[in-house]
Amino acid sequence: MSETESGPLVGDEGGKAAGITEMRRQEALLKTGALQNAILTSANFSIIATDEKGIIQLFNVGAERMLGYRAAEVVNRIRPSDIHDPEEVMARAQALSLELGTPITPGFEALAFKASRGIEDIYELTYICKDGTRFPAIVSITALRDDYDDVIGYLLIGTDNSARKRVEVELREAMSVAKKANLAKSEFLSRMSHELRTPLGAILGFAQLIESGTPQPTPSQKRSVDQILKAGWYLLDLINEVLDLALIESGKLSLSPEPVSLADVLLECQTMIEPQAQGRGIRVSFPRLETPHFVKADRTRVKQVLINLLSNAIKYNKPGGTVLVTCVVNTPGRVRICVEDTGEGLSSAGIAQLFQPFNRLGRAATEEEGTGIGLVVCKRLVELMEGVIGVESTVGRGSVFWFELNLTTKPQPSEVASTAAAIALEQDPARTRLRTLLYVEDNPANRMLVEDLVARRPDIRLLTAEDASRGIEIARAALPDVILMDINLPGISGIQALGILAEDSATAHIPVVALSANALPRDIERGLQAGFFRYLTKPIKVNEFMNTLEVALNVAESQAARMDEAEAS
Ligand code: MN
Repeated sequence: MSETESGPLVGDEGGKAAGITEMRRQEALLKTGALQNAILTSANFSIIATDEKGIIQLFNVGAERMLGYRAAEVVNRIRPSDIHDPEEVMARAQALSLELGTPITPGFEALAFKASRGIEDIYELTYICKDGTRFPAIVSITALRDDYDDVIGYLLIGTDNSARKRVEVELREAMSVAKKANLAKSEFLSRMSHELRTPLGAILGFAQLIESGTPQPTPSQKRSVDQILKAGWYLLDLINEVLDLALIESGKLSLSPEPVSLADVLLECQTMIEPQAQGRGIRVSFPRLETPHFVKADRTRVKQVLINLLSNAIKYNKPGGTVLVTCVVNTPGRVRICVEDTGEGLSSAGIAQLFQPFNRLGRAATEEEGTGIGLVVCKRLVELMEGVIGVESTVGRGSVFWFELNLTTKPQPSEVASTAAAIALEQDPARTRLRTLLYVEDNPANRMLVEDLVARRPDIRLLTAEDASRGIEIARAALPDVILMDINLPGISGIQALGILAEDSATAHIPVVALSANALPRDIERGLQAGFFRYLTKPIKVNEFMNTLEVALNVAESQAARMDEAEAS
């Protein structure tokens, strides 16, 4: 009774005049008929045709296979909307009502409304099979019209969308798992770095204390301490590099590109690298920039790259060698910074392995330490700043490591020039009043180290607290000149404590210096944003620590003077 059984119409009127043309026409029609038949009986997609009211008239093999109904069970009985998820049909009706601004009844109208107006319509809905199982389908619906263009029915062609939906779901799940794993990894790395830094802080801190203490260590003690310090700082570099690389690889490292003055960066790097160069008898020459160049870069990271290249150039140089730093604008809009050494140089095979982690070429044979991670980190950092890094080398003559960054325009002048920087680092000889420093720290080794360091300054009295609540209590009672605050504290964190101190008018003016093993750039950024006066990372570098303390005391001093003046007037 269905059209599939009766077959498509094959006109056969002119059989008597069966010429060759007629035979060809017959053949073609047969072929078309076979195709039409094959389409209708295909098991791969459901074909459902309805009358103009939506009552099913045709239900092909594919529809039978997918939905589990026999054609006879549905033809002349139900509408396609009856075998869809009713809630979805309802939702579609509501969405269409909104979209078209006219009320649409949930039911077949919701499926056919667009098609009845000649609008192409493909929708995704869930089909419900005879046995109650469900599957997502993509259905294309078109109106069927007679010769007078009146709608006589609808054709719905559906395909099973389960496979795609399953892939979508799996993909979403996989992404969420990966995201969680990535987050866990980052957190683990951050915690691990903190855990490793804490004992290293004690090792480096106390070794520095012995190195610089009185009575001075004997020559043999000095040698031992130097070894401890050398190994300790190396271990610290290693932790930093591994952490950096892991963060970059997990896409977790965020840079903050800004216009950075190349001259400033070079000067800062020069100051930082000078002691290392002097210690090895290597002469480093920096360029004097005629024109001020600004590169689009992350200030901290561009320094890190340059320091790494400089440090390598010094380490792998010949005795009494030189390092030459130059800046050239070869390509318009780009500046190339070159670091040239007079070391052994690299073979082309060596160069090929250079920017890969854990490849230290022949350097394993030398005394120099290094994981080779440094250059990999540099490469990733430069690339993150939209730059390029490379090397040219001649065996026996030396290497030129270079990187290129985009030039940018000078930043708008702002009130960056900090007043604190203008304050002299030197201890004010006129200062006679006893200053009070409060140190909030839960780690006894760190407290002991700071106690010993501060003991060298008879003008500073040290108060300590093991946790933030006790620290806040002491701060309110003793009103110290400067507070030194650990971040990871039991109970109230250092950042929370800073907030509490800032809200109290009695303590709000006190400069609070963070001293934390959370040493990621984003930790430091977060800390400074929270309002810390400075953010020092553990392990304590004795000089940096003492200088910062001095700056903070000077700021506290001038603040006190201003407050006195205000009171007097
Ligand atoms: Mn702590």
